[in-house]
Amino acid sequence: MHEFFIERVKNELIRIVGENNLYISDFDKSAYSVDVWSVSRKWVDKGLIKELPDFVVLPENVQQISKIIKLANIYSIPVITRGGGAGGLGGGIPFFGGIVIDIKKLDKIISLDEKSLNIKVQTGIMQIDLEKYLNSRGYTLNHLPASIYCSTLGGFLSTRGSGVLSSKYGKIEDMVLSLEVVLPTGEIINTLPVPRHSAGPGIEHFFIGAEGTLGVIVSAVLKIFYLPEVRYFDAYIFDDLHLALEASREVMINGLEPSVLRVYDEGDTRDVVKKELGIDVNNGSYVVIGFDGFKSIASAQRNMAIKIFKKYKARDLGEKLGNQWWENRYDPYYPPHTLESKRDLYGVIDTITTHDNIEKLYLSMKKELEEKFSDWNIIFTAHFSHWYTWGASVYPRFIVRKPPENPYEFFRLNNAIWDAAVRVILENNGILSEHHGIGFHLSPYMREQYKEAFLVLEKLKKGLDPKNIMNPAVLGFEL
Ligand SMILES: Cc1cc2nc3c(=O)[nH]c(=O)nc-3n(C[C@H](O)[C@H](O)[C@H](O)COP(=O)(O)OP(=O)(O)OC[C@H]3O[C@@H](n4cnc5c(N)ncnc54)[C@H](O)[C@@H]3O)c2cc1C
Repeated sequence: MHEFFIERVKNELIRIVGENNLYISDFDKSAYSVDVWSVSRKWVDKGLIKELPDFVVLPENVQQISKIIKLANIYSIPVITRGGGAGGLGGGIPFFGGIVIDIKKLDKIISLDEKSLNIKVQTGIMQIDLEKYLNSRGYTLNHLPASIYCSTLGGFLSTRGSGVLSSKYGKIEDMVLSLEVVLPTGEIINTLPVPRHSAGPGIEHFFIGAEGTLGVIVSAVLKIFYLPEVRYFDAYIFDDLHLALEASREVMINGLEPSVLRVYDEGDTRDVVKKELGIDVNNGSYVVIGFDGFKSIASAQRNMAIKIFKKYKARDLGEKLGNQWWENRYDPYYPPHTLESKRDLYGVIDTITTHDNIEKLYLSMKKELEEKFSDWNIIFTAHFSHWYTWGASVYPRFIVRKPPENPYEFFRLNNAIWDAAVRVILENNGILSEHHGIGFHLSPYMREQYKEAFLVLEKLKKGLDPKNIMNPAVLGFEL
């Protein structure tokens, strides 16, 4: 942008949000030029940051966001909404400069409805603050992702996030009653107050998972739950992954409702469960299964699940190791364990598919990556954490401990590994991403994944955002 324009837009932004809510120094803006995508981190390490936004604004209310977006339309300036910046696929990086709207000052609880059990809340709230507020009143959102400490509600809504209890309570999209959104042309809209209607499609779903391309989600009404009377967690070890997956499938198709069902492959049992969670297990596939709610109901479901597990020769490691898993469940995601802090080349290629494809997809991806990248001593492990009656998500991760130092070679190797993994996912009827979104990194695969149906998304985008200003680098839309 020419300096004259920068100056003009700056003055207009100051009129909207005030000088204190505008960052223009490179130092301040650099924090907004990366997210948790390992390639962007490498770029920072090497001093190669180029994707600085022109402005970062911290609006204090919805009207200010509306005015900022109307201004961006006048000058055709890209707008990127920023929550915690914990997205792992480059979705929050301002590749074309423009205005970053940091939403974190919109963090208020608007109302709590204790009769219908729902809460209206602004989306800039950190997820942990929302959960603490609810817990202090005897409630929970039951959306407990590992990034609860570093992500906002808006981030989860925009990427269709999953928490650790999703097998019973659903993903974030299952918790939404209604949304308030600032559209790409600046109008403020509310979706219908409840989702289970037949008055046309549920338009809240246009915005959930849109990664900021169809507007800024500014508040949401979400259902909430009472804190459970009991929470049980039991740990088991199966002889191999196949048996663990089969037993878990049987639990789900029989309609049992485990709050947690997490199956670790043999590699993750060794590397995550033993080394990072400190649970003393050796060979085999570790599974933790949890039930919660009223004691009588949770106990009955638990007993049924135990019967199924025993049929598959699971060895009971006891409640103590199950509880230890629950207490330490976030540890692998934060220092000193987090891969990010070690500057490895790593990626989490999460996917979701039906029961009949899960094992095949996992084995094919493991074989493909271990063979193709054997020169790099690639480590491939996985766990299976979000279960449905019809299928489950696979959470594979790869690690290259000694990646190229040169950032361009690092990027190329990263792309080659992801491309090989994506091919396996698409060939096996998997969907790219169960809860991490698409971001910048997976954008090129969107058309291939959706086939003709991508037209629907494209028309939606063109209709709602005629100037293509809202987060233009993500979800594979035309630039
Ligand atoms: C350690 C760690 C653990 C993680 N564990 C989980 C997990 O268990 N489950 C899970 O689902 N994810 C997990 N993630 C991924 C991450 O938390 C999610 O992608 C989350 O959505 C990011 O939220 P954020 O507030 O950080 O969003 P950001 O990274 O700031 O933004 C993500 C995307 O959403 C858009 N966006 C943000 N807010 C809004 C809004 N209000 N309106 C419109 N668009 C918006 C942004 O433009 C961007 O495209 C993890 C990440 C890390 C680093």
